[in-house]
Parts: sequence; structure tokens; C-alpha cells
Amino acid sequence: MVLNSTQLSQVDAQIKRLVQTDSYYGRIYRELGIDGVDSQEAFERLPFSSKDDLRNAYPLGIQAVPDEKVVRIHSSSGTTGKPVIIPYTAKDVDDWATMFARCYETAGITSQDRIQITPGYGLWTAGIGFQAGCEKLGAMAIPMGPGNTDKQLQMMVDLKSTVITATSSYALLLAEEVSKRGLRDQICLKKGVIGSERWSEKMRAYIREGLGIELYDIYGLTEIYGPGIGINCEHETGIHYWDDYIYIEIVDPKTGQPVPDGEEGEIVITTLVKEGAPLIRFRTHDISRIIPEKCSCGRTYPRIDIIRGRSDDMFKVHGVNMFPSQVEDLLQNVDGVSSEYAITIAHDDEKNKDIMIVTVEAEGRVNFEATAQRIRELFKSRIGVTPKVTVVPVETLPRSEKKTKRVTDYRFADNP
Ligand code: ZN
Repeated sequence: MVLNSTQLSQVDAQIKRLVQTDSYYGRIYRELGIDGVDSQEAFERLPFSSKDDLRNAYPLGIQAVPDEKVVRIHSSSGTTGKPVIIPYTAKDVDDWATMFARCYETAGITSQDRIQITPGYGLWTAGIGFQAGCEKLGAMAIPMGPGNTDKQLQMMVDLKSTVITATSSYALLLAEEVSKRGLRDQICLKKGVIGSERWSEKMRAYIREGLGIELYDIYGLTEIYGPGIGINCEHETGIHYWDDYIYIEIVDPKTGQPVPDGEEGEIVITTLVKEGAPLIRFRTHDISRIIPEKCSCGRTYPRIDIIRGRSDDMFKVHGVNMFPSQVEDLLQNVDGVSSEYAITIAHDDEKNKDIMIVTVEAEGRVNFEATAQRIRELFKSRIGVTPKVTVVPVETLPRSEKKTKRVTDYRFADNP
């Protein structure tokens, strides 16, 4: 999907403004001799921006407006290193609320609704984004923040909340508590707006049934406003995103080259009108694809598919992109298999093809050979790749207190 003429002139204006400032990106573009863009080709030659840039610019190096224009900052923590600080102008805050209200509307939520907000308030962009969008829409916000499940359920019942907003894990916990306490008949929830992350179909079904709600996946990241830049519609066919505020391109995560519409790759986002901290070609590391067809809901906002995973976790065998999460989903459905597994990938130089070996643990009560056969079949039918499968007794594979390394790839020299 190429930039339309409005988007192209918006990016051009952003760059022309940035190079006039002493901001981090202003300096980078000046050094590279970039003073605007006049074509798709010129745009695609622009350097990517990344979370590393934002860390380098800590705390406020990325700020592209005078101090008096900044009304708020948000921060994303990240697991390593310095946090990232994003400054917002009054217009940025208002634009974000407008996008968020549009998300609620797309989910069929109206000013009649009562929205219980359980994501956290504070430095990160969650709670306050849900709140601002709710107020923009004119619905009633119930600003709970996370935790205190007793109070959550009391408010949910007494105030007759019709919408719950939450992370998938907290929505699951609430669904379990509603069931345990037999409150299903006392709650009035109709819809759930859930932060878009990867969550299993099993979990989705449990939340949907347990709370009796329709589920909507909202997309966004702190670096680009926060949640609210896109959401799925009632047809549940991908996420509509707001192309009057952001431009999305999908690139090959290895080469950085744009891929054709419909093909999977990394989401790269350009903000079109952001003032405080505009970002051009920001690499999200989220994997998805543009859905080229028009949505049957009639909305003309373009769509990306549900986020498939993180590019950092993706691995490719026989030309097929795979994620550890897919393997986990698949193994969940095999009787007697533990949650531990290891994947080894190597290249057979003689036959000139990749070999993938999956090692899983199984309980002594099941037949290891039949289990291996079942896993091979599941891989073939669900992922389209047939690995070699080894089944070993439970507790054979190494345990780690930190994040376990699941995939060892011997095809690349730099991968131990
Ligand atoms: Zn739609």
C-alpha cells in the first residue's frame, strides 16, 4: 500500500519541520542531507527509526516542539536498558482521543455505554488512553485501574458496566472470578476491548463465554500515541487502522525491503500529524500483513491482520514463517505432552535443504511413537512444514528460570 498524495505531503511537511529543530531526528536528517520527500521511492529510502533511537535520545531528545507546547509525557518501560519517553502536545493528546473514540465506535460502543477501565493509569499509555477515548465518545468511564478484583466485580454489578477494557490475562481472571462467584446473571457486560497481544483461541473462547461478551482487539504502542490506532470491526477480519493519522508499511524483517500487500512481515509505522514526537518509518517488530481486500463492513480504513507475533521470535524454515507461540498452541492439543519443547534447525549441505528437529516431552503413560506421529501430522496440517520429532520423558529438557531458549538455529554463523 503506497502513500496517497495527502500522506506524502504530510510526511514531507514533518521532515521539513524536523530539520528546523535541534531534535534527535532533526539532526539525523540534516546529517543525511534529507530535507523532504516527493515520491514513494524517496520515502522508502528514508532511514528507519527504532526503539534504540528513542533510548539514545533519552530523556527528551526526540522532542520536536518548544517546551511550552508539551502538555504530557508517557513512557514505555522495556525489559532492558533505559526507558523511552514520548512527549505529547495538546493536539497529540486530542488526536489520540479522537482515534480512540473511533475505535470504540467501530466496536459498536456508544455514549450510552459504561466502560470499566482496568488497564493501569500512569506513565504508560494504557488506562489514560481508554479514559480519554471514552470521554471523547461521551460514554461513562469507570476508571478502576488494575487489581482489586472484589471492587472490580462490585462496580461491574452495581454500576451495570456494559464494556470491559483489559489485558487478555486480566479479562481471563475476571471471567474465572465471575464464574466462581456465580455472578454471570448479575453482570451486564456486552463487549470487551482487549489490548492486542497474542492470546490463544482457547483463552479467547473462555473469556467470551465466561463474561458473555463480544471481543475486540485494540492495537497500538506507546511510541505511536498508545493503544487506539486500530481495532477490528464486527466482522472480525483483521484490524482497521486510522490512515489519516498513521501510515503502515510491511517490510521483510531481515532485509528491511517492503513486501507486497497481503504478504507477512514487520509492521513499520509513520505518524502523519504528530507534533511532540513524530516518528518516521518506526520499526515495531510486530508481525502482520496488509489485508488487500475491502472489508465487508463497508469501512474504507485499511486493515492489517491480527498480530501474529514478534519479529524477534520469528524463524523461517522451507520459506514458512513460524513463531514459538504457534508451536505452543499446537502442542496444547496433544495428549500427555508437557509444555516444554526445543526446536533445532540446521542445513543439510548435501541435500541442500533445511532440517527441523522438534523435541517434546511426554508422560510415560502415552506411546512415544504415536505421539511423535501425531505431532508431525499437526505440523504438516497447521503450519505446512513436516519436522523430525523426538519424544523424550518428562523433565529431560533443561529448565530455565529466565525465558527458555526454544529455538536453536545452526544455519547462521552468528547464532550459537
Ligand atoms: Zn470492517
